[in-house]
Parts: sequence; structure tokens; C-alpha cells
Amino acid sequence: MNNQRVAIIGAGIIGVTTAYELSLKGYKVTVFDKNQTCSEESSFANGGVISPGYIAPWASPSIFKRLFKEQFAKHASILVHFPTLETLSWFSKSIKASKSERYWRHRQAMQKLALMTQKRLKELAQSLGIEVEQSHGYNIIYRSERHFEIAKSSLPYLTDLGIPFQVLNKEGLLQKEPALESETPFAGAVHLPDDQIANCRQFALALRDEAEKMGVHFEFKSNVEPLSPNDPKRLVVNGKPMEFDQVVVCSGMGSLKLLSQLALPIPMTAVYGYSMTAMIKEPLDAPKCGILDEKYKVTISRQGNRIRVGGIMEFGGEPKVQSPKAIKTLYKVLEDWFPKATDMGQQIQVWKGVRPMLPKGSPIVGETPHRGLWLNLGHGSSGWATSCGSAQVLAGMMTQDLPSTDWLELALN
Ligand SMILES: Cc1cc2nc3c(=O)[nH]c(=O)nc-3n(C[C@H](O)[C@H](O)[C@H](O)COP(=O)(O)OP(=O)(O)OC[C@H]3O[C@@H](n4cnc5c(N)ncnc54)[C@H](O)[C@@H]3O)c2cc1C
Repeated sequence: MNNQRVAIIGAGIIGVTTAYELSLKGYKVTVFDKNQTCSEESSFANGGVISPGYIAPWASPSIFKRLFKEQFAKHASILVHFPTLETLSWFSKSIKASKSERYWRHRQAMQKLALMTQKRLKELAQSLGIEVEQSHGYNIIYRSERHFEIAKSSLPYLTDLGIPFQVLNKEGLLQKEPALESETPFAGAVHLPDDQIANCRQFALALRDEAEKMGVHFEFKSNVEPLSPNDPKRLVVNGKPMEFDQVVVCSGMGSLKLLSQLALPIPMTAVYGYSMTAMIKEPLDAPKCGILDEKYKVTISRQGNRIRVGGIMEFGGEPKVQSPKAIKTLYKVLEDWFPKATDMGQQIQVWKGVRPMLPKGSPIVGETPHRGLWLNLGHGSSGWATSCGSAQVLAGMMTQDLPSTDWLELALN
């Protein structure tokens, strides 16, 4: 029995999965979160996509051309408010990270984490009976011939990783998604049969219950103050000091403030995104699983009897101020592909969330130069897909079962 006391700061999907894995290793885990329960921030209403076949760093080699073009378009997947010096410096780091060789290394690391997550979700469904709203299969739809051809040319890479796929024409896609609006023009699609949609928040809540049964202690409404460089394992929670043997920061965007006095190189920025969730009017008019409109980078997924539309990368702006242009794009994509799935007049829940994003795309998972202080953060657009995988990696590193040299892409540097 490992009797070390571990504090986890943050009960989003990353904190909850990390708590569960560390508890399995025998650590005495306490999770602190300033909110009333888990999954109240970035992990609240995300797209639910777990796609090892498509997951990739945001900064692909062609993204910056796209970014400039889209600022003048009526509907856009990327919005940039007046860029601050900090945003410009982040873009410059992203440009470096998007250089082909680095991009593929980080993409592969993310894919490995996503495959581990999928495997773990299956195991937990079997062993704990955790059932969440989910569906299998993901279709990437390309509106333009040029982008479809580029996508096809990179498909052998999926074969190398053992990820199955199928190239689809219109008829093929309509077989997979019979309710898709057939009048909307597109060039073709790639079907990823093993990729999936699953409800992230439902899973986090269910896993929290299981972790509690194993002895993990969750302390909600507990704000942790910025860590001290002299002793980062001595936390101050709601004004009260507490000592731990190890501390893991899983605090999403809040990590920056928590680590602000430690001078660690964490170039993380807030990239806002949106989702709309509505009840399905007629199941036969709704998607069976998930699609991604590659032009607008908007996903449409089925989550139980609801439909969720998610996407948009917004740089700058305010967390509580919604951009009408972003929401218009989500509506357009939904109307283009599943116009009858929901009653547009009914109450549609619009959520604005933040992606804690690093320029390299993959997260930071591992120990810091401060012994006993660990990080699992910066999951950007893919934190649900990389959650269980990164939690297992961190737990393996902490118990020294897994050498950190196996995961150099995830190191703090
Ligand atoms: C619109 C949108 C769509 C997305 N779609 C997908 C998708 O389809 N698939 C996918 O894989 N990912 C998706 N993502 C990304 C994913 O949601 C995030 O990567 C993930 O939720 C990050 O989880 P986290 O646990 O790191 O952060 P969070 O969920 O934000 O958790 C951090 C927690 O730390 C707590 N905290 C912070 N500071 C403190 C402090 N000082 N004291 C105490 N507690 C603190 C916060 O209260 C919070 O609960 C999407 C994101 C957005 C915005």
C-alpha cells in the first residue's frame, strides 16, 4: 500500500481521471476544485469527440493561411480579436511548432493518448459499469476537392497506426448518415469507424462517484492560492495551509495563475469555443453518430436524445461575451447538414468554453523541476480524448513504472 498523500488541483475531466488512476496505484488522493462539483469549466459541454483518427495539434502547417483568409469571411472557424503582444507571441511559437516534423511527432503522441483513452473507457465500462451517452463512428466531410485530395494523401499514416478508415462518396456517406442533407454540396468524406462520441461531463461525474468509493476525497468550493516557489507542496486552500507529499496541477486555464510564481515555461493561452445543445425533434432526422465539417471545423454529434454542435476557435475576447458571428457559423453548419434534426424555435443551450491551449498541441504531463510537483495540463481542443491516457501516463511516471523518456513530447521544456 502506497500511503503518500497526493493533492490534485482541478476536478475537470483531467483531474478526475488522474485522481482515479492515482488512487488505483494506492495513493491517498484529495481533489480540490473551486466550483460546486466537477466538470464545470472546459469539460462542461464539449463536442464529446474522441477521434484518434483525426486528433492533431491545432497549428498544422496550413493553419495560418486559413486564419488570415477567414477573418474576412461571412462564416468563420477562427476569430481573432485585436491581438495582444501575448497572443502574437503565442502565434509565433505555434508557427514554429507547425513545422512538419514537430507537427507529426506531437500528432502521434496525441493519437497514442487518444487510443489509450478509448481502451480505458471500454475497460471502465466493463469493470465499473459506467455507461454514458455515446455513439460510434466519425465522418470527416470535405466541402472542397482540394482539401479532400490533401486529406486522402495523408491516409496511409492512419494505416501505419492501425487506425481503420474508409473513403466515402455521397452514397457511401448517406448510408452511414441517412438523415444528412443530400443537397449540400461536398467533395467526399473519410469515415473513421472506431472513433467515437461520448458525453464527457457524464463520464466525469460517474468516475468521480467511483473514485469516492475507492477513498478519493473531493473538496469542492475550495480555492487553491498560487503555489509558493519555496514549498509548492504546501497548499493554501480557502486560506488554510495543508501539506502533501505530491501535488498534481490539473487546473486547465487556472493553472497559469496557480503556477505564476514558479517561473515554469508554460506558454498556454485561452482559445474560446462554443457549443449549442438542443433536443432532437425526430430521431430519424438526426445524426446517428458524429460528423466534422472540415471547412468550418464544426462537429455535429448525437448525445442521447440531444444534438450538440461545437467548434470555433476564438482568440482574445471575454469569457462571458458571446460572439454572434461564432454562433451564426454553428447554426449554418447545422442547417446545412441536419436542418430537420431540431426545432430551431425551441430553447437551445449555448455554451462558451475555453480550451487551455499550448502551441505544440500535445499537453504537458510529468514532473516539474520542483520535486513532487506534477503537471497534467494544456489539453487544448482534445482534453476529453486524451484524458484517461494522460492520467495513466502521469500515474505511471509517478510510480516510476513508466520512464518519462518514453513521452518526451509531453515534457515541460
Ligand atoms: C467548444 C469546445 C469543444 C470541445 N470539444 C472537444 C471534443 O470534442 N473532444 C475533446 O477531446 N475535447 C474537446 N474540447 C476540449 C476539452 O473540453 C478540454 O481540453 C478539457 O475539458 C480540459 O479539461 P481540464 O480538466 O484540463 O480543464 P477544466 O475542465 O477547465 O478543469 C480545470 C478545473 O480546475 C479548477 N481550478 C482552476 N484553478 C483552480 C484553483 N486555483 N483552485 C481550485 N480549483 C481550480 C477549475 O474550477 C476547473 O474545474 C472542447 C473544448 C471546447 C471549448
